[in-house]
Amino acid sequence: MQPFKNEPITTVWTDERKRSMHAGFVKVRERAKDIRPLRVNGSLDTDGPTIERFNPSNTKELLGRCIAASAGITKAAVDGAHQTFMNFWRKTDPMFRVRIVLRTAQLLRKYRDEFNAYLVLEAGKSWTEADGDTAEAIDFCEFYAREDVRLQVEKQPLTELPDEENELYYIPIGVVAVIPPWNFPLAIMAGMTVAAIVSGNTVCLKPASNTPLVAARFVEILEEAGLPPGVLNFVPGSGSEVGNTLVQHPLTRAVAFTGSKGVGLGISEWCGKVVPGQIWIKRAILEMGGKDAMLIDENSDYESALAAIHSAAWGFQGQKCSACSRAIFVGKSYDAIVPRLVERAKQIKLGPVEDVENFMGPVIDAKAKGTIMSYIEIGKKEGKLLVGGEAGPADGHFVKPTIFGEVQPDARIHCEEIFGPVLACMRVKDFQQGLDIVNSSEYGLTGAAYSRSRENLELARRDFHVGNLYLNRKCTGALVGAQPFGGFNMSGTDSKAGGRDYLLLFTQAKVVSDKLDY
Ligand code: NAP
Ligand code: MG
Repeated sequence: MQPFKNEPITTVWTDERKRSMHAGFVKVRERAKDIRPLRVNGSLDTDGPTIERFNPSNTKELLGRCIAASAGITKAAVDGAHQTFMNFWRKTDPMFRVRIVLRTAQLLRKYRDEFNAYLVLEAGKSWTEADGDTAEAIDFCEFYAREDVRLQVEKQPLTELPDEENELYYIPIGVVAVIPPWNFPLAIMAGMTVAAIVSGNTVCLKPASNTPLVAARFVEILEEAGLPPGVLNFVPGSGSEVGNTLVQHPLTRAVAFTGSKGVGLGISEWCGKVVPGQIWIKRAILEMGGKDAMLIDENSDYESALAAIHSAAWGFQGQKCSACSRAIFVGKSYDAIVPRLVERAKQIKLGPVEDVENFMGPVIDAKAKGTIMSYIEIGKKEGKLLVGGEAGPADGHFVKPTIFGEVQPDARIHCEEIFGPVLACMRVKDFQQGLDIVNSSEYGLTGAAYSRSRENLELARRDFHVGNLYLNRKCTGALVGAQPFGGFNMSGTDSKAGGRDYLLLFTQAKVVSDKLDY
């Protein structure tokens, strides 16, 4: 196996790639009438109510349907996953699992523009954002496959003792409920799923209700790669019914969740409750929200800070857990940068993302648009509206990029996660005051500091309290392997996806000491 390398992201779309993306759109649309089945205990189930998924850029367009699981079906899925784990999957050769996951990475490359097309049409990502999501899914497969070799194939180093052979094995734990969000509906969903599977666990996957189609396609390619029936159960459905049932089932061994603070805290509480029939302490791997800040020093490179804030605030319409939603300016940097940020926001092309020229697309659904618009109304009372503040074209769920100036630290638009294209800007007198405001947040996911002062950069290194801190770089775009990702405080359990600690969350260490003398 070659050493791990990040999959390059497409930023220049050649005519050939444009044709291939258009072929991807055709492929997705050919299946608009398809109903994707449930996968429970090795069988496909095509009966029952469906979840319909519409294009957020054009809300009249139906993209496809999935069968929705009930609580009863979900229970059967966990029971089946437990049986498959006990009887079969935990005993398989790790290299068998590794090869399936490596093959899955190859299939993601083969079908790359079809996956990109799902991400554009179903999630509303621009082409380059979509390609970044697919590339990250490939990275997770390649990285976790190698990590599994390191943990489960290679011998673990222990201190040698005379007359005794000691060995440590990272063994799988059981059934993992995988509950991903819609905002990285391929990468995060695939990452949590393959981490669990490659290390020998079975999975019940409940995709986000906004993005079940891309998840259903991913499940198909895992099967194409050779994943045996029953290892991965696919149970789309509502968070309250299917999600809750997965979390509360006594045979669920761990929950891998990425999503909002409120839902994550609820899962944390449920995982702490022992239910009848449960003989372990459930693990809760929780990655939650963010209110990520970029702190701009007075002496920093304004040109590059401007470009970084622009990209981190508006990429995927601000719907990234790592998006820059607050920009904090020391002294005169505010007046040098904010008016130019406003000018650049006015130039943004907003519209259906099927058109490669549109940099910003829709937000995910009507509910998200409603929440964002109500925060904008709050912002109008809390700060100075500098640009945006209104909805975009009515065919989809569009919101114009919105900047508020002169925001105060206690403003709701500075404290609460809005998860949309809304940026709060504020002035501070010095770098230390900026850091204090950064850390007044209950979240601690990502952040960035721009400065030319080594002293201030070192201050940030120590005191800017986030799981992923960037110095003189934007706060989005973490790369698997290079920037393991996860946050502090209410941003989650800091499980560092894409890092070398991650598979430990899906395994347990068993030590065997063999006297050999019998
Ligand atoms: P969400 O509303 O919390 O939903 C996440 C997942 O949880 C979905 O699959 C959802 O199902 C499910 N769910 C909802 N209620 C549930 C319940 N009671 N029990 C079990 N599962 C339940 O989050 P989202 O709107 O999809 O995603 C946006 C959030 O994710 C933001 O807060 C963002 O910051 C965060 N995020 C964090 C990271 C990170 O790495 N820290 C990365 C990406 C996103 P339904 O779809 O059916 O409701
Ligand atoms: Mg939600």
